[in-house]
Formats: sequence, structure tokens, C-alpha cells
Amino acid sequence: MDGRTQVRVMSETFRNFIGGAWVGSSSGRTFETRNPANTDEVIGSYPESDAADAREAIGAARKAQPIWAAIPAPKRGEILHRAANILESRADAVARDMTREEGKTLPEARGEVNRAVNILRYYGGEGARLSGQLTPSERDRVVIQTLRRPLGVVGLITPWNFPIAIPAWKTAPALIAGNAVVLKPSDLAPLCALRLVQALDEAGVTKGALNFITGPGSKVGHEIVTNPSVKAISFTGSVATGSGIAVEAAKRRVRVQLEMGGKNPTVVLADADIPDAVANVINSAFFSTGQRCTATSRVIVEAPIAEEFTQALVKRSRELKVGNGLEAGIDLGPSVDERQLATVLDYVAIGQQEGARLACGGERLSTGVHARGYFSSPAVLADVRPAMRVAQEEIFGPVLAVLPARNLDDAIGIANDIEFGLSAAICTRSLTSAYEFLNRIEAGLVMVNLPSAGVEYHVPFGGSKGSSLGMREQGPVATDFYTELKTVYLKY
Ligand code: NAD
Repeated sequence: MDGRTQVRVMSETFRNFIGGAWVGSSSGRTFETRNPANTDEVIGSYPESDAADAREAIGAARKAQPIWAAIPAPKRGEILHRAANILESRADAVARDMTREEGKTLPEARGEVNRAVNILRYYGGEGARLSGQLTPSERDRVVIQTLRRPLGVVGLITPWNFPIAIPAWKTAPALIAGNAVVLKPSDLAPLCALRLVQALDEAGVTKGALNFITGPGSKVGHEIVTNPSVKAISFTGSVATGSGIAVEAAKRRVRVQLEMGGKNPTVVLADADIPDAVANVINSAFFSTGQRCTATSRVIVEAPIAEEFTQALVKRSRELKVGNGLEAGIDLGPSVDERQLATVLDYVAIGQQEGARLACGGERLSTGVHARGYFSSPAVLADVRPAMRVAQEEIFGPVLAVLPARNLDDAIGIANDIEFGLSAAICTRSLTSAYEFLNRIEAGLVMVNLPSAGVEYHVPFGGSKGSSLGMREQGPVATDFYTELKTVYLKY
């Protein structure tokens, strides 16, 4: 390693962005993040902020919001376009930041940065399309129109697993609609959200209209959720945290949007293209180390092909290369932290205690190149029954449960017999079976002959049942959450 490279990978000190200035926490306390593939490597030090810091960010947002909202929406759109260009010019570096801090492979990280660029461009364009309706009145010489108005200050609380895409898909529609933002990323991987904020600031977002603050959810997040100046909360994360936020939001009757857990099924019928189905399931179960909310964690297979399909999954799983995502040819990186890895290993044990058969993987990898990271081999649990915990509870790691089903009806019944409803997939050559499935499956995203994970940036995203609450994110409908309609009656 030459001297220059060494400087580049050294840990950096990062700050909050409040009122247009980069500042530390008021207490001076900090926390650090480490590379989950090599825990000797410190990635960055961040402010351990508290409620007082959050109040300052909210105050700055409140002050700046009318100034930002007074800029015509198409002009705000130009700023988002500029931010997209800035981020795009840094995409390789930001992708490396992501792999080092969150652990996903470099190609996955690069794809995610690209998605954030697309999101900024998309909502930049929405600036020219933020229109209401002009409607005829029952009365003579009266016209009725609806105007879209920003809400004011909005609080955005995000998880670690898509550390730039989720901050982007909340921040961009919030800003284009004329709101001011307080963004709180996960403490496990805040760096890429900070890179997004840097790009938007350099592109010309009004100082104070975009604030970024790191620190514990129990303090910073709680203040954002409970502060009366915050007019809407958009949250992505676990069911436990989201449920608490829903209660707090209900107390003060504030608009809230929650995207939470999943336990997504892929149904494989006997008439499917089997190699294609295997590829889809391997992709959606194991890529990104199973840490996607849309990951397949249950594959429900028609009984006559269940054993053959399981063997094909096992063969392919064993070929997957687990390692540091910065290296070429790696399929799976580490779990994001020690707790997440422990959850993965615990569920592999729980599944076996419940009577499932461990067909492959599920071991901690801790020697050689894996010695300093949170690695495990991708696990396939066979002969899983629908009531088992490994078939009901979100694991958020590379653990796949295989459940046999008698037929399509039985498969849909098993798929729906769960509290979640984010994403679902079916592999079949029958158009009739595909339509039966997409009509009857309880999920917000449905894939036919495609992996359950892997969504596009310009269409609505969200789940049903316990996975989501509130309006959809992404696509043209995302701005509905961030605006209020004013209905104007005008007589001339
Ligand atoms: P998490 O709930 O632990 O944390 C999410 C965010 O909430 C973090 O920024 C955290 O600091 C903050 N937070 C924690 N306590 C808080 C509180 N009391 N008040 C306010 N904010 C608080 O989730 P995580 O571990 O970061 O993310 C993993 C989870 O996210 C998984 O369950 C996954 O399914 C889910 N997820 C869902 C989607 C989706 O779109 N449905 C997408 C990605 C991830």
C-alpha cells in the first residue's frame, strides 16, 4: 500500500450539517463506524448528538423553509439536477465508502449510488410537474383549483441497509415539494447520506433547508418524532421502531409514513423454468447478504419438485463467494454488525431445533480472509413448516427457508399466512397461475419470473399489512406525502 492510498483509507471525522454549517455535537461526544468486513478499519467518527442538537436542526429548518419554498419549483428542480451531476461525478468514491461502511459488494454499492442519481434527476423533473387541478364549478363564473403546498419541516429517519438510496428517495421528493428536511441516518452507516447532503448543498439548496444529524435513535430520532415543529415523519426501519413512531405520531396527529420489515415469499411452481427460478431465488435471498427489505426469505415450492429444487439451490449456494465486498468476484459481503450476525446464527439454530433440515451453510466464517469480519455462509433450511419461527420472523440475513406446498392455492395460503406483506414473487410459465397469484397475494410489490428484490426508482414502492403504514414512496405519488392540497374557489 503506498502512502497516498493509506491517507485515502484513513478514518475521517465527520460533522452534523445544521443551518448550512458543519458542526459537532453540543456535548462534543462522538461515535465511530468500522468496516464490517475488517473491524480493524475505522471508517469515520461522527457526532453523538442528542435532543438539543436535534432541536437546533429543526429550528434551522423552520427558519429556512419559507425561503426554500419561495424558489419556484422548476428552479428547485434545477438544483436537484445539479446535485445529481455532482453525485454522479463522485459515484465510484461514494460506492467505496458504502462498501467499507455497510459491507455490500462494490457492484451493488455502485448500483445503489446510480439509483440515488436517478432519483435526484427524477424529482428534479417533478419540479415542473407539481400541478394541481382546475375543476368546473356548479356556480356561474366560479372556478375551482387545487394547489399543492409544502408541509413545512419534515423529519426523515433511515436505516443502514440502503445508506444512500433511502435517504435520496425521501429527501428528493421532500425538497422538490418545498419542505425543509431534517435527515437522521442510521448510526451503523451514516456516511453515504452525508455524501448526498454534501452534493445537495454544493448544488445550491438554501442553507438550513437540508439538515443532517447523527446520533442515537432514542435521542435524536425521538426528538424528531415528538417535536411539534416537525409536520411529517417518513421512516424506514424495523417494525419495533416503526410501531413506536406510529404511537408518538398518533399522539400529536402528525402525518407519518412507515416502511418496515418483510418476510417475502417466492413461489416456485412445477411448470417454472427451473434454472431461471434458482437464479432468481439465489439473487433475492443472498445478494446484499440477505439484508434487503425485499429479500426472499421463504421459497414455497410445489411438492413434486421441492427436493430437486432444494438440491439445485444448495449446489448454487455452495458456489457463492463470501468475502470483502471491495474485492472482485465476491457475491456476498458480511452482516452489517456483530448483532446482526448473531441473529443470523441464532435463527439457523432455532430452525434446526424446530425440526428444519440445514441443507447447507449457516456457519460463521472466521478464519483466514474472514478472520476480522462478520461473515457467515449462505444457509438453506429445508423441510420448513409455515408455523416455524424461521418461516414467520424477519431474520435480515442470508438464511433461506424452503417450504413445500401441494399446489398454487396451498402456496398462496402459506405465502399470505404472515403479518408482513412487502414483496412477493412467483416463478411459473402459466399466465393463469401468474394472474391468480398477483390478484390474491397480500403484498405491495409483486414480481413474476423476477427476483422479489430489485425495484426501479420511478414507480411506487411500499408494502401492505404489517410491512408499511401510510402513503407509498417513490414514483410520482411520493410527493403526495410531502404536500397538502389547498382547494381554491374563485369568482370572477
Ligand atoms: P431500526 O429500526 O433499528 O433503525 C432505523 C432508524 O430508526 C435508525 O436511524 C435508528 O437510529 C432510528 N431509531 C431507532 N430508535 C428510534 C426511536 N425511538 N425514535 C426514532 N428513531 C429511532 O432499523 P435498522 O436496523 O436500521 O434497519 C433494518 C430494518 O429496516 C429491517 O427490519 C428492514 O426490513 C427494514 N427496512 C425496510 C425497508 C422498507 O422499505 N420496507 C427498507 C429497508 C429496510
